Parts: sequence; structure tokens; C-alpha cells
Amino acid sequence: MGISKPLLEISYISFLALYFSFYTITPTFSASLQDDFIKCLHIYTNVEFPLNETFFTIEKNASTFEQVLESTAQNLRYLAKSMPKPGIIFKPIHESHVQASIICSKKLGIHLRVRSGGHDYEGLSYVSQIEKPFILIDLSKLRQVNVDIEDNSAWVQAGATTGELYYRIAEKSKVHGFPAGLCSSLGIGGQRGGAYGSMMRKYGLAGDNVLDAKIIDANGKLLDRAAMGEDLFWAIRGGGGASFGIILSWKIKLVPVPKTVTVFTVTKTLEQDVGNKILSKWQVVAAKLVEELFIRVILNVAGNNGNKTVTTSYNALFLGKKGALMKVMKKRFPELGLINTERLCRNELARIRCLHFRLPDRHSY
Ligand SMILES: Cc1cc2nc3c(=O)[nH]c(=O)nc-3n(C[C@H](O)[C@H](O)[C@H](O)COP(=O)(O)OP(=O)(O)OC[C@H]3O[C@@H](n4cnc5c(N)ncnc54)[C@H](O)[C@@H]3O)c2cc1C
Repeated sequence: MGISKPLLEISYISFLALYFSFYTITPTFSASLQDDFIKCLHIYTNVEFPLNETFFTIEKNASTFEQVLESTAQNLRYLAKSMPKPGIIFKPIHESHVQASIICSKKLGIHLRVRSGGHDYEGLSYVSQIEKPFILIDLSKLRQVNVDIEDNSAWVQAGATTGELYYRIAEKSKVHGFPAGLCSSLGIGGQRGGAYGSMMRKYGLAGDNVLDAKIIDANGKLLDRAAMGEDLFWAIRGGGGASFGIILSWKIKLVPVPKTVTVFTVTKTLEQDVGNKILSKWQVVAAKLVEELFIRVILNVAGNNGNKTVTTSYNALFLGKKGALMKVMKKRFPELGLINTERLCRNELARIRCLHFRLPDRHSY
């Protein structure tokens, strides 16, 4: 039976209405608001900021704006055309620029989003769906890492990535590390001191190993641990992103790691793990193994069309040598059938790679 013409027309109109209701038109910044923001920044900072390196708008150069916006954004879904875009992207090159941005956005009534590494699952660091117009403060130019091996510590600016931090530590020492996230492109700022990683069983979260912090509060005041007090210092180590101010940098405590660590990845298909016996054993045993051993499982779909299966990849880091690892595995988790470690990392650079397994970049969650 055919569909009548009026019904077709109604469907077409409904489709258009639905289409346009999903397509959000972002109120763009007026040129005068952009000028006001820049003028205001000049009032609240004495440190110059070359506009061509720090200030990006669609009006000035749409393709550069897009590049900067997308540079670290990890969730492709929030880069869709329909998503609201910031009126300005400002990349501070000095800490006083962050202070000035907070003061000025408040004065001008502009909502502010802050981005460090751009890994927010919901794109909260570069999209604001309710509060508009908004400005994006991108901290990627504030990424210094100063490692002090004598003091067992480092000051790390928010725009640095975990990979940079691990690399800088490894440049100075083969027996120091830091227990933060696994993915090397995670931002230090956005992890807000929480952050779980492959050394968490031995050393806890990154937040457990933070000694001090520099934060700018909602009034534009720069505070360190002594000035902010222990309550706020507790809250920022794991509290919600951008909830308590903008973190400029963390002082972290380095942890000891052996010169040689061992890693392995063992992958089983659904067919190789009948009844999920290995997976069930992992669930029971993983948290009870020696603290030096971290094993995570990554589930994936493998194969194509008619031949699909599910794989479970057991991805491990052991803070020690292969022989000791094999003893633990044979005794506590023989079901995995680990007969030989795939890699044994002995030198410094290999150790950095081994300590932090990398996930594929960019997803649509
Ligand atoms: C592929 C991938 C792998 C991941 N792996 C791990 C992992 O191994 N371990 C782990 O613990 N987590 C992991 N995460 C989660 C990740 O750590 C969090 O999403 C974290 O918030 C990302 O920090 P960021 O700086 O990269 O993100 P951003 O997107 O820049 O920021 C995240 C949130 O923090 C706010 N924020 C950013 N910078 C600051 C700042 N300087 N001061 C105050 N607020 C700020 C943002 O506004 C936003 O709300 C992973 C995420 C992804 C996408």
C-alpha cells in the first residue's frame, strides 16, 4: 500500500523541524565583546600576550580556530558541527593570564571553560551546551615540568601531559616514577590529582602523591597549599573538574621504581576462555596479587562480519624482573597460561613505554 501525498508532506516537514531543533546555532561573540575581553586582560596582567599566538576566533581565522579547538579534544562526538563552539579560545602563556581571564570573564559575564589535556569524556573542557556564550582557556602552553630528584619531587604545570611528565622524570632518574594515568596524552590539570594508573596497587592514585598545588580561585586569587588551607587542598585532589578554581600546577612526590620492570599482554578469545573461567579468576585474584603486579583487562570485538568474537586482553605491569613475575603467575593465576613475557624492558626509554601502556587516541564515546 502506498503512502498518501499529504502524509508524505507532513513527514517531510516533521523531519525538517526535527533536524533544525537538533542543529544548535551558537550565539557568536560580538566583535566588541572580544575587544572588551582583550582590553580587560591588559588591565589585569602586565605580561604581554601576542594575539596571533594566544587568541583564536572563528571571525579572525576559521581554519586555525578549528585546528586549535580540535588539537587535544578527544571525544569526536563533541566536535560535531551541531555542538556550540567557544566565542574565543585563549591560550595563556603566563600564569597571570589565567588570573586575568577569570577576572575578565566574570566582569563581562562570559562563561568560562578550561582545558588541559582535553580527555574529558563528555567534552566539558571545550563545549558548554547550556551556558552560552562561552570562552575556552586552553592551558597547553603552560606545560613546564621541573623535576628535583634530590627532593624526590617535581612541579608540573597543568598543560603538561602524563607522557611528558614520565619522560622528564626518566631523563633524570632510572629509579623514580609517578603513579598517574595510563594514557600518555592525559592532561595533568584535568586529572585534578585523582588519576589511576598501572602503579596504583603499590602507590595509590596520583592524588595520594600530591604535596602542594597552585590554584586560582573564582576571585582570581593565586593560592598555594598554605594559603588555600587543608580543606580545599583535600577537595582539589580528586574533586570535580573546574569546580574549585583553575589548577596551575601540582607539586608531586616521586615514587621509587626498580631499574627493570616487566610487562605482558595475553589475549584470549571467547572460544579460548570457555565459560569465562579465566576472566572470573582475574576478577577474584587481580586485587590480591603482590602489590607490584597490576593486571587490567581490555575487552574488544575482533574479527569481521560472520566471524566476530570478543577478546579479553590481560595487560600487565610488574615492578620487578621476569623470573619473580613468573613465580607469582604460576602460583596465583596459572589459568592465564603465561609461559613467557612478551617484552622485558631494561633500558630507560623502553621503561617509560612499558610503564604506561597507551590507549588509542580519540574516540566517540
Ligand atoms: C583515552 C582516555 C584514557 C584515559 N585513561 C585514564 C587513566 O588511565 N587514568 C585516569 O585516571 N583517567 C583516565 N582517563 C580519564 C581522564 O583522566 C579524565 O577525563 C581527566 O579529567 C582528563 O584530564 P585532561 O586534562 O586530559 O582533560 P580536560 O578535558 O582538559 O579536562 C577535564 C575536566 O577537568 C577540567 N579541567 C581541565 N584543566 C583544569 C585545570 N587546570 N584546573 C581545573 N579544572 C580543569 C575541565 O574543565 C574538565 O571539566 C582517560 C580518558 C580518556 C579519554
